Amino acid sequence: MLSGKAAARKRRRRERSLKRSPRVPPGRFVRHPRYGDRPILSAERWTEAQILRAYPGYRGASIFPETAIAADLTRQRYAFAPRRVYVDMAMRCRSCARWFLWFALEQKHWIEELGFYCDVQCHHCQDCRHTAHLLRDRRKAYDSLVAQEDKTRADWERLERLGTALWEAGEISRPETLLKSRMPKRLRRCL
Ligand SMILES: [Zn+2]
Repeated sequence: MLSGKAAARKRRRRERSLKRSPRVPPGRFVRHPRYGDRPILSAERWTEAQILRAYPGYRGASIFPETAIAADLTRQRYAFAPRRVYVDMAMRCRSCARWFLWFALEQKHWIEELGFYCDVQCHHCQDCRHTAHLLRDRRKAYDSLVAQEDKTRADWERLERLGTALWEAGEISRPETLLKSRMPKRLRRCL
């Protein structure tokens, strides 16, 4: 058991080594609502070489060896080789160009709980993924309301709100499409 001082020294040493890690981008990361904005240190000990041997897919990536956790191979689906280890990666979002962390715990969740294949990649930060999901849901609701016959006034009002939000987000770019979300004049007259 380490004394309080020794543990603090060890923690400082690890934090310093995190800062020194090669290819690690400077500055802050986009905050993840569940995992935060800093690498999550693990209790396991992996060297960078061991990690790259255990999963060559991490080659060339900005990884934090101090965050590595072993995988449960019985829960993985893979075409060629399993991902024997997960490690926090620093990545640049393809949409907003900000740096974000793709956490080892998140990778484990995607692969072992949600059933993604081991070679799954993440290209967008949590914020942009959230916005994309929201837009997709709104677009779905918009399309089904447009297709729905006999819309009530409340349906039209919802459709107008959805249409405006999608237009502002650039999801709808053709004015003809936007017009489909506008309440007919005959209904508008009896407001
Ligand atoms: Zn982003």
